[in-house]
Amino acid sequence: MNRARLLVFNAALPVLDYRVPDGMIVEPGSIVVAPLGPRQVLGIVWEDERLPGTEVPDSKLRPLLEVMPVPPLPAPLRRLIEWTADYYCAPMAAVARMAIGSMAALRGGGTMTEYRLTGMEPKRLTPQRAAAMDALDGEQATIRELAERASVSEGVLRGMVGAGLLEPVVVDLDRPYPRARADHAQPQLSEDQQAAADRFVAAVDKGKFAPFLLDGVTGSGKTETYFEAVAEALRLGRQVLVLLPEIALTENFLRRFEARFGVPPVLWHSSLKSTERRRAWRAIVRGEAQVVVGARSALFMPYAKLGLIVVDEAHEVSFKQDDGVRYNARDVAVMRAKFEKVPVILASATPALESMQLAEAGVYEKIDLPARFGGATMPDIQIVDLRTEQPERGHWLAPRLVKELKLRLERGEQSLLFLNRRGYAPLTLCRNCGHRFQCPNCTAWLVEHRLSRRLACHHCGYETQPPEACPECHTADCLVACGPGVERIADEVREILPEARVALVTSDTLNNPAKINEFVEAAENRMIDVIVGTQLVTKGYHFPELTLVGVVDADLGLEGGDLRAGERTYQQIAQVAGRAGRGEKPGKVLIQTRHPEAPVIEALASGDRDSFYAAEAEARRDAMAPPFGRWAAIIVSSEEEAEAREAARQIGGARPDLPDVLILGPAPAPLSLLRGRYRYRLLINARRSAELQDVIRAWLDPLRFSHGVRVAVDIDPYSFV
Ligand code: ADP
Ligand code: ZN
Repeated sequence: MNRARLLVFNAALPVLDYRVPDGMIVEPGSIVVAPLGPRQVLGIVWEDERLPGTEVPDSKLRPLLEVMPVPPLPAPLRRLIEWTADYYCAPMAAVARMAIGSMAALRGGGTMTEYRLTGMEPKRLTPQRAAAMDALDGEQATIRELAERASVSEGVLRGMVGAGLLEPVVVDLDRPYPRARADHAQPQLSEDQQAAADRFVAAVDKGKFAPFLLDGVTGSGKTETYFEAVAEALRLGRQVLVLLPEIALTENFLRRFEARFGVPPVLWHSSLKSTERRRAWRAIVRGEAQVVVGARSALFMPYAKLGLIVVDEAHEVSFKQDDGVRYNARDVAVMRAKFEKVPVILASATPALESMQLAEAGVYEKIDLPARFGGATMPDIQIVDLRTEQPERGHWLAPRLVKELKLRLERGEQSLLFLNRRGYAPLTLCRNCGHRFQCPNCTAWLVEHRLSRRLACHHCGYETQPPEACPECHTADCLVACGPGVERIADEVREILPEARVALVTSDTLNNPAKINEFVEAAENRMIDVIVGTQLVTKGYHFPELTLVGVVDADLGLEGGDLRAGERTYQQIAQVAGRAGRGEKPGKVLIQTRHPEAPVIEALASGDRDSFYAAEAEARRDAMAPPFGRWAAIIVSSEEEAEAREAARQIGGARPDLPDVLILGPAPAPLSLLRGRYRYRLLINARRSAELQDVIRAWLDPLRFSHGVRVAVDIDPYSFV
């Protein structure tokens, strides 16, 4: 009798046993189809002893239906799935699903049909078709994806196929990717770079778990250096995974990768079109995708022969996923490297305190690149005290910053103004009655976006048009914008420097690869004088003519009482400062603040990173905060306020009383309403030695809640709202 234990993609029944019919061959990791009641489910064959299962007698077992024609998920990945589910208190099925990535890809390769414009230009078009023609220029995708991109119905596009405006293109899902060449364009490394590269290359050769912290100042050539490790993996025929914190950075990375290796890498992220998803996933499992670059979802792919993992900008908070499985991709990447027995490189100019601590403890090997490449110097950083150097009324840029901007324009050099706030103004109110525009679904103000003429919620995506009159007192033309967003700063620049060419860089304006490329090319070709941007421009970019960086409001990130606020502010400002003076001309950075005495501002001004990290570490040690103690959050939510409150009270009432564990709350979350759900939070602070996850499981597992209640556990949380 041949039994198989399955991890099935069904949260209610995650583990089921089946009979393997005669002639069917399965092994641990095989992806199979099984009957479940009248339906079918997908599952992964798992080792019996690792998955507590059922005691159903053999005679009662139903047979498996089919094995998917893809290689079994490798053992190191199965161990990673188990570890992630256990560590983050998440359902194993939810973690395993991240490894599948594309359900459609399981069915095999073959072909799919995409559509593109034929180039025919009819004399008359309906407005919808005309809009679609504009939107779809240069695009090729399935009808559904094109409809989404062009914001028209699929029916409109089918009509266009019939009229000969769109034509089908058959796409081979298994067409190979061009081969990267390890020695396509090898740079001449500096001495420091070479020493670092040698360490990485040796580790790749050795093929053992080896975690590195690559700590190099901005412009030191971290990318060039870890590319040598990538090259070595290519020579050995091993796959490489490069994780980037956000998709917006991939375009820049692709260009650099192609310059070094001759072809672009394989991309993986959540907004890939379906054919590319299938093609990439299938190439990954067969070991044919040589280098995969992606956002955090690339981490759980079933690489057939991984040889190296790189996490670039490893300090970035966006590696932490805050819904679904709440994992930190930086930490899971290290675990994956451990299970795969390969080196992992965490690269950053401003490493997370947690990573520094692990390096100090000797867990990570720290590799330093202390100087910029090619003799470029670090920028001169100055503080602008907004209490004494006040901007003009209704303006946000202090006279000294304005003077420096003018100077750059005269010299033909570029400037960058950084403010981490999208839109025109973060708050709109009525001059007459004081009414404030609030999101109906969230505890948040609506942000005015003047370019798109919208009031928008940055939490849930709710949008509305600014009304002509106040909805409360009905006075016309009485709305005032309070505070600045980047759009407003861009307006101010246009006012003080009318002849300057200003580029606004936010996720609203740079929302696709073509626009990102256009921006990078314009900046490189000196078609832009002043860049005004959010955190999107703080990292990754290298514009040699950029010699001035202005931080519009350094205090923004310090509000809100987040325990990592100081560290995060330091990282963000050090990163954006790092964009200045990367070429031959020296850079200058002006930081506008009302708190020049704050430790983080002083550290930035003096460039004394080490003592800042030391002070932060001390404060964390006192507060028993990570990495010295451990945190976890429990977030309770429901569409009914009373239901959420009751569930929170129930959890609070069942709290364990343990010497090593301090439990705060439940209390209404700072974002007490989010996407229409009322929220309560508890924060758990424990000693490192405490078995935090076991405590939480023993606490929550016996509790039963009303149907509409969701209880999420967030281990090592980054968000406290
Ligand atoms: P970081 O990521 O450390 O900020 P980059 O990798 O972006 O630095 O390098 C900064 C700039 O210097 C890039 O334009 C890069 O191409 C260039 N550079 C770095 N090292 C070398 C090298 N050895 N040879 C040629 N150019 C280099
Ligand atoms: Zn909202």
